[in-house]
Amino acid sequence: MTDDDRAVDDEAHAPLTIDEDPCSAALQRLWSYLDKELTPADEDDLRDHLAGCPPCLAEYSIDVVLKSIVRRSCQEEAPAGLRVRIQQTLLQVRVADQ
Ligand SMILES: [Zn+2]
Repeated sequence: MTDDDRAVDDEAHAPLTIDEDPCSAALQRLWSYLDKELTPADEDDLRDHLAGCPPCLAEYSIDVVLKSIVRRSCQEEAPAGLRVRIQQTLLQVRVADQ
């Protein structure tokens, strides 16, 4: 995120739109995308954004890993502490993004 983006954020108090804050809009859609709940057009928008936005792509990668672990843990026992480590990693990413 650039300084220009922050200036826009300070002025934006209305609900976020893709034009105003594409990163927030993209992150809000990530889980829906992973659950295949988006329309094809929305999927294309999200993929386009991820392709040009490394921070969002990193968040996407974490969510993919998290989701695959959750899915796997339904079939076998997840290692103790893994869930906590994932949550801590997610928090660190969110903090670093601000
Ligand atoms: Zn982004």
